[in-house]
Amino acid sequence: MPTLDPAAQLAAVTLRCNQAISFLEGRETTFVERLRRLVDCNSGLDNPAGRLQCLAMIERVYERLGFSCERIARQGDMVHLRAHRPALRPGAPKILILGHFDTVYDTTSSFQVMTQEGPWLHGPGVGDMKGGLVVAQAMLEAMAHIGQLDAFDWLCVHNADEEIQSPTSRDLIEQAAVGRDVCLDFEIGRKTGALVRSRAGVGRYFVTVQGKSAHAGMDHAAGVNAIVGASKLVLALTDLAAPAKGTTINVGVIRGGTKRNIVPDECKIEVDVRITTPSEAARIEREVRELMDHPPIAGTRVTCIGGIGRPPWQRNAACDQLIDHFQATAKLWEFTLGAEDTGGGSDANFTAALGIPTVDGLGPVGEHPHTIDERISRHTLVERAKLVVLALSTLQPPAPTLN
Ligand SMILES: [Zn+2]
Repeated sequence: MPTLDPAAQLAAVTLRCNQAISFLEGRETTFVERLRRLVDCNSGLDNPAGRLQCLAMIERVYERLGFSCERIARQGDMVHLRAHRPALRPGAPKILILGHFDTVYDTTSSFQVMTQEGPWLHGPGVGDMKGGLVVAQAMLEAMAHIGQLDAFDWLCVHNADEEIQSPTSRDLIEQAAVGRDVCLDFEIGRKTGALVRSRAGVGRYFVTVQGKSAHAGMDHAAGVNAIVGASKLVLALTDLAAPAKGTTINVGVIRGGTKRNIVPDECKIEVDVRITTPSEAARIEREVRELMDHPPIAGTRVTCIGGIGRPPWQRNAACDQLIDHFQATAKLWEFTLGAEDTGGGSDANFTAALGIPTVDGLGPVGEHPHTIDERISRHTLVERAKLVVLALSTLQPPAPTLN
């Protein structure tokens, strides 16, 4: 069988990459307009119809590229998308692409459309992460343009519930990850352009403290004050933090009571937990349950839902090797690319925790996600797609398995 010498191989790769780069650079306006359509279609938690419209837009691009698409309906009006395109030859690298199309902006938000301000695109979800979906699909279109789509087995999972920690899509992502050589998550790139190589795990707890109401003056002793019970619980929960081990606890919401002169019978709190190691995740789960089972004041009843929804993604050799490959690629094309650890969780936590070489933050470079100042640098839609094309073009196929 004839084989190319390494120099000829490199020349062929370089030629293809240059063709991909001109393809991408000539289409920046197309990508911006595609992003505008996605961003202007609200896909918040309260808008299942909007989420479905976004899904349909994403699906159309995959269908044009010859992927087979499957819509997966789950409880709570959640519909996710799975798109697959097998490789032409066995043994081709198996790539998993992750990205969500829900955003944190409900229909009631004042932030609903994309605007352009000089080199910036400003809008709900431009970075987190409709922009990332546009980058992923632009990259696939460039691969198709240079005839390289068939050289990989592509599996793409796009979910509608990432912003609430993917309760109905976690299993889909974990199933999709099995046997994949690489997982690429296109969450918003860091402000510096750096990729993400590890993420904290995330937990959420929704706690209700039930007491007993009574007249604050005439019958105070007959009441059980739920706000006092919740306050003691807040302090006890906060004491579970271990910042030196990377464990933080934030009680972000407290709501209770109706009137000044009534002993409140209900108080609700919402707690956010970040952990960086599996042992801390287990400790927090255990100690939170213990607190809930032994309410700090007699006569209260505590109910708690939630838990550690995302396992920590710790740095590991498999992921670091993939990051190194992206950085080496960047160097080859004469730009520098950083890598950062972050406290924010994403769906990449699931794949990395399963040991799949994972890289995240491949979306456009931007800032202020989850706020009305969310924006991305327009040109990075093209830059990031380019980076992934280049990195995948020099990816070594996995070692053949012996049967
Ligand atoms: Zn987000």
